[in-house]
Amino acid sequence: MAQIQAHRLVRLRALLVHAERHVPHWRDVFRTHDFVPARMSHADELQRLPTSDKDTVVREGDRMHADGVPHGEDPSPVAMQTSGTTGAGMRLLMSKGAHREQWAVCWRYRLWHGLAPGTWCAQLGGRLIVPIETRLPPYWRVNWPGRQLLLSSYHLGPATAEHYLEILARRRVPWIHGYPSMVTALADFAASAGVRLPALRWVTLASESTSVEQRARILAGLGVVPREHYAQTESVANFSECPHGRLHVDEDHALVEFVPHGTGPGGRTTHRVVGTSLDNWHQPFVRYDTGDLVVLDDAPCPCGREGRIVAEIDGRREDVLVLADGTLVGRADHIFKGLEFIREAQIRQGAAGAVSMHVVPRGAWTSEHAALLRAAAEARLGSDTAIEIRVVERIERTSSGKLRLVVREGGS
Ligand SMILES: [Zn+2]
Repeated sequence: MAQIQAHRLVRLRALLVHAERHVPHWRDVFRTHDFVPARMSHADELQRLPTSDKDTVVREGDRMHADGVPHGEDPSPVAMQTSGTTGAGMRLLMSKGAHREQWAVCWRYRLWHGLAPGTWCAQLGGRLIVPIETRLPPYWRVNWPGRQLLLSSYHLGPATAEHYLEILARRRVPWIHGYPSMVTALADFAASAGVRLPALRWVTLASESTSVEQRARILAGLGVVPREHYAQTESVANFSECPHGRLHVDEDHALVEFVPHGTGPGGRTTHRVVGTSLDNWHQPFVRYDTGDLVVLDDAPCPCGREGRIVAEIDGRREDVLVLADGTLVGRADHIFKGLEFIREAQIRQGAAGAVSMHVVPRGAWTSEHAALLRAAAEARLGSDTAIEIRVVERIERTSSGKLRLVVREGGS
């Protein structure tokens, strides 16, 4: 661990020296707080700086972009969009090296579980795979070079589940990757239909946290223990599940701080996940508050991996939306991707086929904004879903202080 810390400090200092020279926003912040990166001798000194968040990034805009990158770095970054679990959309730049490292960290975790690159993978993600108005199979597309069976997350329901299970069985897919809410729904359909997928060896989950109950349903329906990896587009904190089922902080990837937040259910202390990336030269994120809350685990893991362990991630747990025909839609946050005029949002559902979208705008709300949001929602929920948009001042938090993006009312 001492070696990792020393290595991390060297990278951190180099990045912050760069941020001071090349990023107007950070130059100002460092000056205001009398912080000189070149003199930094311990990562804790970073705590003199305030935390930043999505609001900072949207407000500061180009002032958070570097006006140059070090020699040897690819000068053109990857442009990314995030939606996240509060419904606030955001654009950001990521250096290609940082992007590669993010993937390397993810594949390291997959290798822990014996998953090798090139393994055929069925994905249940947030992207639109087939047109939303599709009423007949196939509800998937095959990416031959990438060895992916891309399943639509917007068509899975009681009437279509048999087709999903049939293609998975027929193609003998060994690996399913997707959102816990959707994979759990698929597992439930497999259990109720009595269908087994004998070739299936791995189930990996991303983007939302998984409850104990969801894990049990996935194991019951698909016969495989699911594994999860925590990451976010900003790439300031990664946690990887080991074969013992514990979530290890990827200590070498970013500088992760756990800032005490409050008391969660069961009287346990919750912490905010605040992180600093070590290699995004185009847009350094310093003490960036992800908005996610965790409970830490002090017991060492029998696997022997060093570093901190997370017991539970709160606030990324989401309900699915139910369309009029029973189709289940997970990860509704994709509706908000790139819609920077929304500060936060919540989708409430009382009855199947109808949703009420509560939004807190960043500035003035116009009919143009409403039309853009409606179009984005219809693209994923279909035009026969009744969509009500309500502009509100504030969205209520859960008892642990977390905003839930999707709330099912009355449990329909
Ligand atoms: Zn472990």
